[in-house]
Amino acid sequence: MINRVDHIGIAVSSLEESIPLFEKLLDTKLNKREAVYSQKVEAAFFKVGGGTIELLAPTSHDSQIQKFIKKKKEGVHHIALNVSNIEQEIKRLEKNGFEFVSKTPIIGANNKKIVFLHPKSTNGVLVEICEDT
Ligand code: ZN
Repeated sequence: MINRVDHIGIAVSSLEESIPLFEKLLDTKLNKREAVYSQKVEAAFFKVGGGTIELLAPTSHDSQIQKFIKKKKEGVHHIALNVSNIEQEIKRLEKNGFEFVSKTPIIGANNKKIVFLHPKSTNGVLVEICEDT
């Protein structure tokens, strides 16, 4: 079952430059920063109502975020849907013909189990499925 839109991920080149910008935009202070080694990114989180905005900056030249920025420039990178049971949701989505970047959940930011759906099966949108642990 999908519970809610968990967060929106935005690719940025520099957290130092983008954190003050988003603090001004959202009229709120940064909630926290976290290095996510599995994704070769550093993330910065802003709480907005019940949702979260996640800024993602590459920490390595071979990070997916670095490749994204090179190709498409900074901007919306993915939307994340919060689910109760990620394994069940993977099966449901698979049965419905969706393709995955990888079907094996990894540990992402905030210690969540995550997988990504391939944008070619979702109208060009990179969709993250996440479960709180
Ligand atoms: Zn995310």
